[in-house]
Amino acid sequence: MVLVLASRTRGLAPCLVGALSLTLTASLAGAVTIKSGRAKMGSPFEVTVVAPDEAKAWGAAEAAWTEIDRIEALISSWRESSETSAVNRAAGGDPVAISKELFDLVTRALKVSRLTEGAFDITFGPVGRLWEASAETHRLPDEESLRAARALVGYEAIELDAEALTVRLAKPGMRIGWGAMGKGYAANRAVAVLRAAGASGGLVNAGGDLVAFGRQEDGQPWKIGIAHPLEPDRIFAFFEIEDQAIVTSGDYERYVEIGGERYAHIIDPRSGRPVRGVRSVTVVCPDGELADALATATFVLGVEEGLALIDRLRGVEAMVVDAEGRIHYSQNLESFIRETATP
Ligand code: AMP
Ligand code: MG
Repeated sequence: MVLVLASRTRGLAPCLVGALSLTLTASLAGAVTIKSGRAKMGSPFEVTVVAPDEAKAWGAAEAAWTEIDRIEALISSWRESSETSAVNRAAGGDPVAISKELFDLVTRALKVSRLTEGAFDITFGPVGRLWEASAETHRLPDEESLRAARALVGYEAIELDAEALTVRLAKPGMRIGWGAMGKGYAANRAVAVLRAAGASGGLVNAGGDLVAFGRQEDGQPWKIGIAHPLEPDRIFAFFEIEDQAIVTSGDYERYVEIGGERYAHIIDPRSGRPVRGVRSVTVVCPDGELADALATATFVLGVEEGLALIDRLRGVEAMVVDAEGRIHYSQNLESFIRETATP
């Protein structure tokens, strides 16, 4: 049977395939599996835990939820009280003292920006907001507003002081936002908490960004089915994974339609325009946060440049669906795919 873990609203929804048929199942080996779901970061999240007994499993899951809440409170740009909001409010002004945790997150985001030559950029916000407003008015942003917003986008204007643990956004009106990386980070942290709480295996599905660790209760690796991008009810690839993340960027339900054209919610920071030419990108690698950031970046870079980047990175694989629905794979993706029906 097939148990869908991810929301069906995403194009390439990861699904769990296998023995999990009830909320609680007990194996012969004595391990139990529990599953718990909640809405977090504006998306459906799910935590699946394999542990020696039920009490341990539920305790671990609860600790993971607490950790996800803590991260949301730290990084959300919607919450006035978050450190991210404090940084954004002070744009153009004095440096802001932040926690080591947010400082390190910004540092890692900048690394991905450099690696992707700006395709991934946490300062995309001013342009992103313009296109969001377009979704409401059904009119394209005017050139003048676009130019003004673009002038505020650019990771080079993020100033970090590692000694003082401060961050400063150099231009008034600049913003940072974690839409492309925050769920992956939350999933990574939740997995760390589950492990520390004694879980032998599990899955954290952060709104379609999935991080797996350990094994299923019967000792088998996790089997994740990927729905066909053009026919979401059909699974066309199975991934067998242990300590890996599978993250998809580009959910078809989230787009803006203006004048009959579809615009994605992913912005090319270099042009200030929503990306076209790619429908979705799925990245597989051991780190959920990196997979999240790279999926967004590959979406921006497009099929050729995107897959060329992925092929240069050890331990990272990807699958890109282009505008025509054609599927392109990175060099070594086959090592993860167990069975593939013809798409
Ligand atoms: P994801 O689904 O991980 O690709 O993240 C998409 C979200 O990331 C969008 O809804 C925006 O909040 C944000 N975003 C859009 N474009 C970019 C970009 N080029 N770099 C970083 N974040 C972006
Ligand atoms: Mg992402």
